[in-house]
Amino acid sequence: MMEQLVRDLRKEGARLGFQDLGICTPRSSEHMGLFREWIDRRFHGEMAYLARPDSIARRANLRGTMEDFRSVVVVTQNYNQADSPGVPGDPARGVVARYARGQDYHELLKRRLQELLGWLNIEAKKRRLAGGVRGFAYVDTGPILERELGQLAGLGWFGKNTMLIHPQKGSYSFLGVLLVDLRLPEDPRFDTDHCGTCEACLEACPTGALLGRDQNGAPVMDARRCISYLTIELKGPIPWELRPSLGNRVFGCDICQEVCPWNQRFAEPASEPGYQGRPDTDGPSLVELMALSDDEFGVRFSGSPVKRAKRRGFLRNVAVALGNWGSRDAVPALARALDDPEPLVRGHAAWALGQILNRVGIPGDGGFEVAEALLFRLHVEKDPWVEEELEAALRGE
Ligand code: SF4
Ligand code: SF4
Repeated sequence: MMEQLVRDLRKEGARLGFQDLGICTPRSSEHMGLFREWIDRRFHGEMAYLARPDSIARRANLRGTMEDFRSVVVVTQNYNQADSPGVPGDPARGVVARYARGQDYHELLKRRLQELLGWLNIEAKKRRLAGGVRGFAYVDTGPILERELGQLAGLGWFGKNTMLIHPQKGSYSFLGVLLVDLRLPEDPRFDTDHCGTCEACLEACPTGALLGRDQNGAPVMDARRCISYLTIELKGPIPWELRPSLGNRVFGCDICQEVCPWNQRFAEPASEPGYQGRPDTDGPSLVELMALSDDEFGVRFSGSPVKRAKRRGFLRNVAVALGNWGSRDAVPALARALDDPEPLVRGHAAWALGQILNRVGIPGDGGFEVAEALLFRLHVEKDPWVEEELEAALRGE
């Protein structure tokens, strides 16, 4: 009876748009020692919420997050979106990470998980397997190590790029977790590491954020160097030495997934209902993005994960990408951004103009115009950090 319920649960999951569904039993995390070490080494950067003692303790033991639950249902949902022609190769256009090219997945996935819970509740009662089923849905917000649960539920292995990789579907998937108070038959955990001797992701990572496996076989990442962290989570300036490595990535990064042979072989574009890519995140013009006002940013990215970076963080990233493009065509947009109300945007626009100045030289094509814009701003600038950026740009650093 219970086996039939699980078979039907999988069908219902597929009907709701989930790519895969696995079941495991809640237990203490096997990776807590590693997680604590990761926090101790400060690899989490500014993501202080990860280091809070209550959050660590809840990660360590799922039982602390919901009393009386018996099973964990883990689902995946494909978010893969193909690149438009010319992207990411065109440095005048920004690249947004695949997961952020559709609408914000948190709400969508949570709603579907709640629908799944509703179905389970009705079916378990109807089949007289339980008086009812209670549960909680988590999507990237609960204190849960979703990827570890995914592995326990048989959905894939931890790749050296730190992603959960499915052997027939790759890794472009959101993970959602449903904790339920009904005991369901477990799936066998996924124990094989299919990375083998491959190190393609380590070699391709432009910032050297991936550090390989530790002595226990767990993949290690220094999040402080990861472009996803730098362009989304980091609130302040992007470190100088890492700015050139961002290229034209303006929100997140997929490079270590793009080079993964399992994605190259198996990843299919997402076709689930409700997750469509948005044209405004499909290789947008950097010059156009640099001109967005607060209101325009809000309207353009309404319901999009890009809003998480806020306008100031997003335009900081766009300015860096324009500096990496290094074209004269970027100068008018960057020169206007020197007057932006946000110091973070002004400082990165100064850096970007400095990159262009380096390339063309002061007597070169447009060089005088760039130097004049920087000098003029330096004359009126009040923010000490922006002053430093302006001076460094004029010195050609
Ligand atoms: S997301 Fe990009 S920057 Fe981060 S580890 Fe992967 S390749 Fe490196
Ligand atoms: S690129 Fe290679 S090493 Fe990296 S996650 Fe994929 S299979 Fe593993």
